[in-house]
This record gives sequence, C-alpha cells and structure tokens, in this order.
Amino acid sequence: MKITNDLIYLVGLWMGDGNKTTSRLMISCHKNVVEKIVEKVNKVEKFEYSYKTDTIIFKKSTKLKTKINSIGIEEIKKYPKHFLAGFLDSDGAVLSPQNNNKDIFNLKKKHNYEKNGIKIQFYNTNKYYLHLLFEILNKLNIPFKLNSVNKCGEKIIIKNKICNVNKIQYDISIRTAAGNYVLATYLKDIIFKEYAKKRIERYIIWYRNLYYNKKLPIVEMFGGINGEGLSSGMPQYFVRVFGCSLNCPICDTKYSLTKKKRKVGIGYEINSKKFKWTTIEDIIKQIKKDGYDNICLTGGEVTLYSRKIGALIAFLKEENRKITTQTNGTKYVVSIFKLSDIVAVDIKTPSTGVKSNNNIIKKLRKQDEVKNLIFNENDIKFAIDINKMVKERNCSHILQPLDINGKDLKDKYKWLVEICLEKYLDKFYNIKILPQLHKFVWGYKKRGI
Ligand code: SF4
Repeated sequence: MKITNDLIYLVGLWMGDGNKTTSRLMISCHKNVVEKIVEKVNKVEKFEYSYKTDTIIFKKSTKLKTKINSIGIEEIKKYPKHFLAGFLDSDGAVLSPQNNNKDIFNLKKKHNYEKNGIKIQFYNTNKYYLHLLFEILNKLNIPFKLNSVNKCGEKIIIKNKICNVNKIQYDISIRTAAGNYVLATYLKDIIFKEYAKKRIERYIIWYRNLYYNKKLPIVEMFGGINGEGLSSGMPQYFVRVFGCSLNCPICDTKYSLTKKKRKVGIGYEINSKKFKWTTIEDIIKQIKKDGYDNICLTGGEVTLYSRKIGALIAFLKEENRKITTQTNGTKYVVSIFKLSDIVAVDIKTPSTGVKSNNNIIKKLRKQDEVKNLIFNENDIKFAIDINKMVKERNCSHILQPLDINGKDLKDKYKWLVEICLEKYLDKFYNIKILPQLHKFVWGYKKRGI
C-alpha cells in the first residue's frame, strides 16, 4: 500500500483508538483538506462532517483501523509527526502535572509546574504502536523511561470492583524538563484537541520564562571550524563556558579555568574578568545573528551547568540547530547527553594526570564519539581497553596526539600513526587517528578559530 500525505494526515489523527465497533474518531481540519479526505475515506468507511466545527466524525472506525494496520512500519516511520499526534490524541495524558493526573482535564486549575514538576505520559498496551513511539522519541533524542504500570495477573480496583489485569500496561514518561520542552515545541502545531494544545502552550511559556533569563558564565562565542574528532573541518559556532571539574595540567584552554577545580553542581557565585554572565536569551540571539547551523557547546566543562545547558540545547533545537557537546566525561547528565545531536567525550588517559568516569561510555549512542589524548605507549594500552567499551556502543573512537610542549605536534602525530599501524592495529576496532587540525594551521596560542 502506498501512503499519500492525505492518508497519513487522516491516520495520524486517529491512531491508537478504534478497537471497538462503537469507537469514534474525530478529526478537525481545514476545509480545503476535507474534500481530499472525503474522496479517499469514502471507499473505506462512512463519516459525518460538520461545517460548523470543521470536524469529521467516524462512527465505526474498525474497518479503517484494519486498513491502516496493513501499512508497513518502515513507511510509517517516515511520518513521525502525524503518528505522534495520533498517540497523544487517544492514548495518554499530555503534559500532566506529576502525581496529579486527575487534573488532566481541569483547565481552570492553575498548574504549579515548578512545585509538581511535569511529565508527558503515554499509555499503550499495543506493542506495535509502542515500538513506533520509541522510534519517534529516539529520533528526537528525547530521554524517556518505560515503566510497566499494571502487570498481567495483578488485581486492581475499578469502580469499587476487584478486577484481574489481563495484559501489561506500559507508561512512558519523559525524563527531563528540557526533553518535555523539545517534545512540546514539536507537538504544538499538530495537536488538535484544545485542552491538550492549551496545556502544551502553557508549558512552553512556563519553561521559557524559567530559563530565558538565566545566565551562563561565557568565556567566548565565535564561529570557526571544528579542529577535533569527526567534525574536523566543519564550520561551527562555539559557545565556551567558564570553569572545569578537572583542571588538567595539560589543559589547552586555561583561560576558561578557575585557579581551583570546580565542583559539579556548585559554581553560580563565581565572578571573574575571564567571562561574562550572559543570559540564555542573549546567547541564542547572538547565534541567530551570526547565522551558524552547527553549534558546539564546550568549556571548561558544560556539565557544571546541567539544567541551564539542557535548556540552551532545548531552545536551540527549537531553532533547528545541530548541537555537538564536548565534555570531559566526569558526569552523565541525561538532558545534555540525550538531547545533543553528538556528544564528544574526552576520556582522560594516564598522561593527562586526571581521571574521567569511564562508565559514561556505556551510555553513549552510535552518533557519539570518544577521544583519547595519547602521549606514550602506556596511553595506547589504556585506549585499547577503552576501545572494547566503545565497540559495544558502536560509536566512534578517536586517538589524538598529546603534544605537551606545544612544539612537536607533527612529530607526535607521525609517531602515533606509525606505532599504531605497526604494533596495535589488530587491537583496535574502528579507530581514527586525528591531530587537532586548528593547531596544525594556527598554532597553540591563537584563540577564536
Ligand atoms: S577537562 Fe578540558 S577544559 Fe577541563 S581542564 Fe581538562 S582539558 Fe581543560
């Protein structure tokens, strides 16, 4: 069966419902779309159309459901927006305050998002649709959690009667406020039920108000080419935050460090001439003005400012920017690691004199990359162990020469390539050996490239 845009439009508004012959499907749409839908749907099922409300109602939608189920999953995946609208229409609470699901339909009551938190919940017992929903959330890089709510064989009380649960019910919840924001902005144009739409719009305003004026300590912002890893040579806009949780002796951006290393979670009180407190709104304005699509968030260390960086990423995603985040691998922050398009983790080798949390590699995705700075053979042996973990995640692994003196980069790179090819090639899976391109060209001291 070939999918046309019109049919997908129809499916999207309805899917997730319609098992019973009494089930109804309501579709709101623009008048000019109606005629096309009428033509297609007439062959499948009878419906009523109200010119007053621009709404189509299918009184018996079982046949329609059978037809839709015959569409291949690969084809469905091409149209995630429409299908997601379908899920939300009938299968779950949209943007309901945590622990207070009774309020889902109560628009009069003011939600206290800050106090109660927020989560988007989906309920679905149909694994076919559940699989689609996973695909969609993964595609958007939105962190979520799957819980089984009621298990087979459990007894629950419905309307004062004890009932047996005969199938497992799943509850998918989005794990971060930034993730909720990304999904909310994605959904806002395609949700058709007024109560859901209003709730989404209210959440978007609340989240923006909370984070737009928060400030980050910004060392520098500039456009240039990325000199490291798989993005080498790619024009990117760099946003560098101040402070780091490691303070490596070999750090090449010492101007972004405090004298003492910064503890994760602490750091809003600092003041220095080395950076400027800049609101998230101003950062976004500057990025828009300078016109870059690819953004690199770097430091210092971005995970020191986990929620603010999560919010910045969420806002940048709304602007359709592609985000690469560089981190030193000391802390896993779900919103940063999941919402970024690429996470580049610098796992510290023995020669750097500091340690990362190597277990972070277990959480990386295929598109992410691990970097190791190599100074001697001991570092290569360390990287071989790291490579085993990288292989399991199927992400990229980059070896980069560490030139402590800042004078011998070419020689160091040559040595690293030769020794890897001669002695260690069979020990590595899918490795890349790359120098820092910008240092080759502009040397060590130049900033803002
Ligand atoms: S982790 Fe990176 S930014 Fe932090 S001190 Fe080390 S090299 Fe510098």
